[in-house]
Amino acid sequence: MGIDDTRVSDNTLLVHDERHSEGAVAPPIYQTSLFTFESYQAMVDRFSGASTAPVYSRVDNPTVSVLLDKMCQLEQGEAAAAFSSGIGAISNAILGQVKSGDRIVCVEHVYPDTYRLLKGMCARFGVTTDFVDGRDLAAIEKALPGARIVYLESPNTWVMQEQDITSIAKMAKAEGVTSIVDNSWASPIYQKPLLAGIDLVVHSASKYISGHSDTVAGVLVGSKPIIDKLKLDTTPYLGAKLSAQEASLLLRGLRTLPLRMQRHQESALIIAKRLAEHSSVTRVHHPALAPVSYSLLKGYGGLFSFELGDEKNVPRFCDSLSLFRLGVSWGGHESLVMPAEASINQSGEHRAAVDFGVSPRTIRLFVGLEDPEELWSDLSQAFAGA
Ligand SMILES: *Cc1c(COP(=O)(O)O)cnc(C)c1O
Repeated sequence: MGIDDTRVSDNTLLVHDERHSEGAVAPPIYQTSLFTFESYQAMVDRFSGASTAPVYSRVDNPTVSVLLDKMCQLEQGEAAAAFSSGIGAISNAILGQVKSGDRIVCVEHVYPDTYRLLKGMCARFGVTTDFVDGRDLAAIEKALPGARIVYLESPNTWVMQEQDITSIAKMAKAEGVTSIVDNSWASPIYQKPLLAGIDLVVHSASKYISGHSDTVAGVLVGSKPIIDKLKLDTTPYLGAKLSAQEASLLLRGLRTLPLRMQRHQESALIIAKRLAEHSSVTRVHHPALAPVSYSLLKGYGGLFSFELGDEKNVPRFCDSLSLFRLGVSWGGHESLVMPAEASINQSGEHRAAVDFGVSPRTIRLFVGLEDPEELWSDLSQAFAGA
């Protein structure tokens, strides 16, 4: 683990494992709740910290440890922790560091459930959040003094806005503020925020890391002191552990992550560029179409959004699609469509559209692994019918 200049490429790292027992190329799934000790002394040694043998799968499990090691190498971080969901990773990262009276600085237009966690539960425990425009460095600098955490999501996942991760990490460090980036959109293949000085990276592993829409999981990677402290005083007590079965699914997903990202990138760029030229579309939100000088992105994923000219046509457009299915989430094999108004406007959230940066005309697409020309035909016929 740790930062290493001599490391192999991500492509090799993700398919090449240490030999597992019996020469297996995939690690065994340790489907066990507890691990027994050979002797009284072995047990005493474990609890005194003299040994690191696994004790109980809520706290540690060897299959999960293989995943954590891979994630550390991939993000070039010192330590990692795995959770039963992305939001489990986010809530642990936040609740593990704040106390009543603390203040968080968060960029606007973050993942809706992150927003609800901050506005709802955190506020109930006396932790307030200032939401700032993530593109306004001066506003972030002004908000930082006295804050506990600065929380970024770059690019975010409704309007794909990027933040100046390097500058914000530097300013946060100077103010003693813990910096966190949700890196789910880019995946570790296309962005490594820890190398830019960020303290903690969050992944919803339900997305690209799983890559097959068959599991919900989350990972944190970052500085050893922060992860160690979380494992000491937070994660065992919130209990949102990842199972060995699901760790194994994530390890399977990681082996093809670079290949899948390349395909998502290529297909989504073809479609985004054609949409930008289309007479029914007024705007396309894709980082490649609005490049920023401070971008850390080495590539793009399959998720972007666009504005349809007339909001009345949104339902008919969505219903006319057959390869793009209506559904939440993204990052798997299959293409998806998500109309902002229908999906974000949960009961009682009248300001939702403003808070997430969307309009009733915003439609989000996830471009999966299907043939891009067939996906484009699907969209073209839906425009013709809408
Ligand atoms: C899906 C998602 C999450 C939450 O992850 P879950 O695994 O669904 O809990 C967090 N951040 C982003 C950007 C997401 O897309």
